[in-house]
Amino acid sequence: MADKRRKLGFETRAIHAGQRPDPTTGAIMTPLYLSSTFAQSEPGKHQGFDYSRSGNPTRLAFETCVADLEGARYGYAMASGCVGATTIVHLLSAGDHVVACDDMYGGTFRLFDKVFARQGIQFSYLDLTDPGALESALQPSTKLLWLETPTNPLLKIMDIAALSDVAHAQGVHVVVDNTFMSPYFQQPLALGADMVLHSTTKYINGHSDLIGGVVITDDDELAEQLGFLANALGGVQSTFDSYLCLRSLKTLAVRMRAHEANALQIARFLEAHPRVDRVVYPGLPSHPQHDLAARQMSGFGGMLAVYLKGDLETARRVLSRVELFTLAESLGGVESLIEHPAIMTHASVDPAQRRAIGIDDTLLRISVGIESVDDLIDDLDRALVAR
Ligand SMILES: *Cc1c(COP(=O)(O)O)cnc(C)c1O
Repeated sequence: MADKRRKLGFETRAIHAGQRPDPTTGAIMTPLYLSSTFAQSEPGKHQGFDYSRSGNPTRLAFETCVADLEGARYGYAMASGCVGATTIVHLLSAGDHVVACDDMYGGTFRLFDKVFARQGIQFSYLDLTDPGALESALQPSTKLLWLETPTNPLLKIMDIAALSDVAHAQGVHVVVDNTFMSPYFQQPLALGADMVLHSTTKYINGHSDLIGGVVITDDDELAEQLGFLANALGGVQSTFDSYLCLRSLKTLAVRMRAHEANALQIARFLEAHPRVDRVVYPGLPSHPQHDLAARQMSGFGGMLAVYLKGDLETARRVLSRVELFTLAESLGGVESLIEHPAIMTHASVDPAQRRAIGIDDTLLRISVGIESVDDLIDDLDRALVAR
């Protein structure tokens, strides 16, 4: 061993962090501790757990492991990504102001715009692909900067380090929704962010069989407040879903590499296809922010967007002809999904705003799975050339 202090590799930590053989039985895998409450030997004296809303050994193993992968000490597993966002915004009080990117996950926007805005939290939404835009949007009451990068569905990239510098100069905390990249390809805390949010529904669980979220920080003070809120609000992840997420983390690295390899091949195939107008994938040199993506991320992920030549009917035809790609919302699972943002995931966005962002009738979003890439390409090619 050249250097004993060398940090263990991502793959090693994904399999071992926060876990050791069960002390009572030696079981290699962290058991499902399906207990709501825990025995105390004297009032207030227990073995670290008293009630499963405040803490559960299975959930803690997952939280410790996923936090470690983001380079942090604290994780709070939630019943969904939306509950994670809800818990974070509860750090604020009425009158506080949040600056958010204008192109974020629709459910997060709905939560801000339709729930928290009614409770007196103020929000400004802006295009933060230019870090210079942030300075003038900050107010004395600004407490939080909310970033999501790359964005959904058009994969715009925001400079986490530059934006965090501007925010921190004004004492503003930075949240990054890292759902699209997972900690394998992007680690926002190392770039300056204070909190990371994941919808574990997507890549972290990766098998499209649960809804979950996690909030991660390495800041002691934020951790104390988030831990309090997780328990007080009570939107914690179930033990069973924590078990599934913990199991999925073990293969996160190999899955992400496979998603990316397939996505890059499919992006190149589509970019050269005569029925395709334009492909948006951060790993293509044609992506307007390819250099920033390459600097900020260690890979480009499994999501891509494609503009077809034609019109809405062309898009409908392609979507009805694919066989391996399932027409469905969501993303990040081992199986490939395809969808039509204007009709499906982004239907609630005002049509004018949709056009302004670039979501038109010929746009398809693809979540590239880890099937044999030749089969995926054949499937897309058949659907594209069919009349
Ligand atoms: C899905 C998603 C969410 C919301 O997560 P849920 O688990 O569905 O509540 C938040 N952010 C992004 C980027 C997502 O893709």
